[in-house]
Amino acid sequence: RRNRLITLQQGVAISGFNPVDKDHGHAAACLTDTNGNRWPASLIIACDGGGSPLREMAGIRTIERNPGQTAIVADVQLERPHGQVAWQRFLKGGPVALMPLSDSTMASLVWTLKDEDAKVLLDADPASFGQSLTEIALAPFGMMVLASDRRGWSLRLRHAIRPYAQRLVLLGDAAHAIHPLAGQGFNLAVGDMIGLADALEWGDDHGCEPGDASVLARYARGRVAETAAMTMATDGLNALFSFSPAPLRSLAGAAMTILDQSPLKNIALNFANGTLTRGLFSRRG
Ligand SMILES: Cc1cc2nc3c(=O)[nH]c(=O)nc-3n(C[C@H](O)[C@H](O)[C@H](O)COP(=O)(O)OP(=O)(O)OC[C@H]3O[C@@H](n4cnc5c(N)ncnc54)[C@H](O)[C@@H]3O)c2cc1C
Repeated sequence: RRNRLITLQQGVAISGFNPVDKDHGHAAACLTDTNGNRWPASLIIACDGGGSPLREMAGIRTIERNPGQTAIVADVQLERPHGQVAWQRFLKGGPVALMPLSDSTMASLVWTLKDEDAKVLLDADPASFGQSLTEIALAPFGMMVLASDRRGWSLRLRHAIRPYAQRLVLLGDAAHAIHPLAGQGFNLAVGDMIGLADALEWGDDHGCEPGDASVLARYARGRVAETAAMTMATDGLNALFSFSPAPLRSLAGAAMTILDQSPLKNIALNFANGTLTRGLFSRRG
């Protein structure tokens, strides 16, 4: 499908990246797809996920950490309605979360476990899986029954040290894949889009083309505080709640309950939605 600004290609993948397209001199980079088509552009915006092939092709280095956890994702049928409330419990090994779906007794499950425990549950028959979930999660929704296929996601922290290279910029998980326990990956990706749009607008005002290094550096500067803070916060919370000794986890749980009832909760919410870091660190003009 084509419109004036967007060409959507389905069933193909990007297989090559050249920062200097020989047919366009130094004015363009070029992507190659698996059909052999070439796509020259002043700037390549790579949003190809945590394992980002384009990040590898551009030689962008990352900080990585493998916590040895897998998240099992599935739909589950609840005995009692969810009342449009998202629910999460922190367990040793990782949190179990249930997000309400439009049907009042259906929820989307994200259950994080140590890799070896996840493997057992992914292989378990559906009835045993539902029973284990009900018994271990202790959620207020009664008996839970598996209502879809299960999929396991190996969780890995990845943070690009510098989210750009010559004529290529990283957005979303390609730039920073974080633990899903705070449900913040998508928010960060939206923040990246806003940050890049601002940087491109600044470049336009200053006579720079989109792929200009000063535009990309400006984008990176604008995003570093929020993405680094969220990466560290989610990694720290995961270590605290999933792997620390039981007394420390209980203490952390009590602190969360106090936070939930205190005025500090709004500061935490502003941090989670990016308002706090954007307000403190944004450089406009
Ligand atoms: C288990 C789990 C639960 C999560 N829960 C939440 C949540 O509740 N809330 C939240 O905000 N975030 C959540 N996240 C994080 C969220 O999914 C990501 O932050 C978000 O999807 C990032 O979007 P993205 O576009 O950067 O990457 P992705 O969603 O990974 O998309 C990348 C796309 O690039 C495509 N691609 C890859 N390579 C190529 C190639 N060579 N050529 C062409 N295309 C390619 C892929 O097919 C894919 O479609 C969760 C993540 C996981 C793993």
